[in-house]
Amino acid sequence: MDSLFEYRNCPSCGQNDFEVLFESNMKSDDFNVLFDYNMEGHDSQEGMEGYLVPGKEWGRHVKCKHCHLIYMNPMEQVSKTNEYYFKAKNNHAPTIRESYLRTAKSQVSLIQKYTSGTNLLDIGCAQGFFLFSASKVGYTTKGIEISRDAVEYARGEFGLDVEAKPFEELRFAENHFDVVTLWQVLEHVPYPLMILKEVHRILKPGGLLVVSTPNIEGIPAKILSKRWWDIKRLHINQFTTRTLTDILQNTGFRNTSSASYRGFVSLSILLTMMLKYLGVYEQLKALFNPDYVLGKILNKIMLVYSSKLNHCVVLGFK
Ligand SMILES: [Zn+2]
Repeated sequence: MDSLFEYRNCPSCGQNDFEVLFESNMKSDDFNVLFDYNMEGHDSQEGMEGYLVPGKEWGRHVKCKHCHLIYMNPMEQVSKTNEYYFKAKNNHAPTIRESYLRTAKSQVSLIQKYTSGTNLLDIGCAQGFFLFSASKVGYTTKGIEISRDAVEYARGEFGLDVEAKPFEELRFAENHFDVVTLWQVLEHVPYPLMILKEVHRILKPGGLLVVSTPNIEGIPAKILSKRWWDIKRLHINQFTTRTLTDILQNTGFRNTSSASYRGFVSLSILLTMMLKYLGVYEQLKALFNPDYVLGKILNKIMLVYSSKLNHCVVLGFK
């Protein structure tokens, strides 16, 4: 059982002094099951649910007594979760495309407010919606992504330059990029400090870093508590604007501030997420079939929200 886990010191300040916020709700069997089947297929296959269905399975969450960061401790063994990421497949890419591209446009505008540099790296770029939007307005872009499926999409659909390797295995030149972005990435990585230090090294002096993560002090988190949809197996760090700012400052970033962008979500995506959360998606998923009229309509209706509702966005300069 123990070999399925890794213990770690606080991933922000390095201390090992915490209070337990809440225990894991998983049984020993749950930890084994998920890794041993073929994930190349359908996203609702048994086994993958624990990763994809929010508010369902989580590990023990602790809060550092020194810097107040909330993190999962122990976390599942890194090599095993990485295996999941390599194989993860998103069959919803065509459905999310429109809303993600619109969100990306707002993220690009945010960056343009803070810097005129155009050499941009996006770490954990997924299907490349953000990078594509950035490249359309003149950025020279580079992406890093470990899901093979997402890399294929980013290259095939958008012709993007994406490295299919973990960031830790790459070695970029010092003082190279004007902008580095980490959209919804730091909550997944076991050692965020190491990544931020490396980002600091490869940014040009004065270069901009933008980081966004779910906000455990946001309104949905406060209302739903442990059932908040961003409490899930793959989210092993939980930030607030304060703790996210702290970790950037600890890594040497200056002039940090919080910001926001406009997010877009189609009614189709929103309802899908809600029904999955409630555990009734399988019975009703035919409603969302984009080949039918209802599915088409639900896909067209676009809702807009501020990232502040559920996320922290913090930026800083080298
Ligand atoms: Zn700490």
